[in-house]
Amino acid sequence: MTSNKKKNVNDFIYLYATFPFVKRDRENFDWLYKKMYKQMKKISAKKGFPFRRKPLAALYELNIFLQCKASLLPHKYSEKNARVALEKDLYGIYSQYNRRIEKKLKKRLKKDVELMDTKNILKKVRPQLTSTVDEKIDAIVLESANNIINVLRQSISYIWDMPGHEIDRIIIGTTPIEINGNFTPLKNNGATIGDLADDVSFLSLATQIIPILHNLLSKIELSQHIEGIIEELNKLVDTGLPSEHSRQNLDDINAIFVGKVLSIREDLWLARKIVERILELENEMNDAATELNNENIKKLYEDFIRKDMLQEINEKAEQFEAIINSYTMQLRKMTYKIAKCPINTNASPIPEKLIFKILELYAMLERFRIFVQMWYDLPFFVNVETGLTETFMQKQDKTKVTPYIIDATNLFKTYHGKETTTYALRGVSLKIKPGEFVAIVGPSGSGKTTLLNLLSGLDKPDKGEIFVDGKNLALMTEKELVAFRRKTIAFIFQDFALLQEFTALENVVLPGILAGASHPYATGNQLLEQVGISEYKTHLPLQLSGGQQQRVAMARAFINSPKIIFADEPTGSLDKTTGLKVMELLKTWNKKGFTIIIVTHDLEMATFADRVVILVNGKVKEELEHPDADTLIKVFKQISD
Ligand code: ADP
Repeated sequence: MTSNKKKNVNDFIYLYATFPFVKRDRENFDWLYKKMYKQMKKISAKKGFPFRRKPLAALYELNIFLQCKASLLPHKYSEKNARVALEKDLYGIYSQYNRRIEKKLKKRLKKDVELMDTKNILKKVRPQLTSTVDEKIDAIVLESANNIINVLRQSISYIWDMPGHEIDRIIIGTTPIEINGNFTPLKNNGATIGDLADDVSFLSLATQIIPILHNLLSKIELSQHIEGIIEELNKLVDTGLPSEHSRQNLDDINAIFVGKVLSIREDLWLARKIVERILELENEMNDAATELNNENIKKLYEDFIRKDMLQEINEKAEQFEAIINSYTMQLRKMTYKIAKCPINTNASPIPEKLIFKILELYAMLERFRIFVQMWYDLPFFVNVETGLTETFMQKQDKTKVTPYIIDATNLFKTYHGKETTTYALRGVSLKIKPGEFVAIVGPSGSGKTTLLNLLSGLDKPDKGEIFVDGKNLALMTEKELVAFRRKTIAFIFQDFALLQEFTALENVVLPGILAGASHPYATGNQLLEQVGISEYKTHLPLQLSGGQQQRVAMARAFINSPKIIFADEPTGSLDKTTGLKVMELLKTWNKKGFTIIIVTHDLEMATFADRVVILVNGKVKEELEHPDADTLIKVFKQISD
């Protein structure tokens, strides 16, 4: 193999290395990301590497994984020792990351609001127990942090794809579990190991989570604990409390007990969601294994996805939900009883035993809560490639010859909040022909507005390409984009967005003047006539009804003869009759050749469109051509249930 000869892709070994990370620690994640990138670059940037001008290594952020992919020269890495050395290098960086995370995690857990509140209440009630309470809460923090760190540490995965050289191998966790055998895609199928890489990374995480979740749940003797505590509490309220002060104290302790028991329902729900998702992914992995014609992977999954444990987790969760439900009334009544119980100066004070019992139950439930909430993303696990990839993506084309006026492929958009991450769009592709009328429908929060904002260039996707009228939005400067939008696109909004100080006619004309139209007033007058409100042209928006305002907004949208009209809930603020009229007007314009894209949650309005695209959870679930209202309602219901 000579270094200057152009090499076939098959002459390379590919490495997929996946590392889970703690998403909330953005700063440390960036650190990990940079280090990994440098390392990946180093290992592939060897002399004579033929892909020098292309990305040498790619890093993707996959929801809670950082996945590194590198193409490597086989002569260097076909030796097992060389591969092991490389894995060790990468693992070394990851271990450093984990040490940083561990510190941060403990710090954060110590400040956890629920833990802090409990600690303060218990200390206030019984100051002499301060050190015991501190110890107990510290133990929860320590054990929870350890549980999380252990999962992180153990759930890395490597896949070596070695076409034509040696057998491929998969390594899961720190103990190399190798799987040998070539991954030969089935005929007519383009599946690669790359496709499998995210499934495997998930698998490796799931295999670490399952036993801990199982263990945490099996340690909880829920009904026994609740019974014991209720019994103690009843004894106290029956004999009375020695003072108002101790009543207040008991009330506080009871609040911790009742609050914790009732609130754990959410975490049980989440645990079941996680189980559900693991099983779903196992199926997907099996499919990938079938496509790759590899029985070994199937066997690997069978061994590692502990179905018995998953089932027990589900059963336990169900059982706990039933237990909590059966005690709900008693728990609620307890608060009332404490408030009503007699004051009896001879009564005994609140026994420490009760505080300990509550603290013990609390500790078990908290460990479970913290662990489950740590993996709260899992049910929504999906390959979310975010902005990180942008720098490393292949060069995009500035223009594209396409029969579509809108040609969007694989759009991803994620919003990173402080505590939560929203995957607003998860791989949406949409192609719209010139002159088409498309309605985007979906439940609230399904990503409709986000999609509209991306297609109209108001916002940028994290990943994916959008060509509007053949031009790549991503490669336009802000200035070009503004000019392009002014010429090509117009908007109609739910709240009309009219300028209040300007008359109807002025509102319509203004965008024409801005775009340098030759006879904006003449066009404006004509348009107002077409929407049927020319007699109101000197009125201010406030003097018009909602329907009339929307007509002004529609006239305004057409002033520059745009190619595409985007309308976000155009009938959302109107009554039904007025709404239908607005839709009819849109349809008339559509017949004149304008492309119209509306977002609506009103299925009846959507039937005006040629095509209805149903979005659910950031993905296109269904597309229907000219559906009637009944069909649309039926399909929509099926999908969103
Ligand atoms: P829809 O229009 O279908 O109701 P959106 O596109 O408005 O949905 O939102 C999709 C998801 O993204 C929602 O969960 C929403 O809360 C979230 N989201 C939208 N915009 C932002 C933003 N700027 N910051 C954070 N989250 C956002």
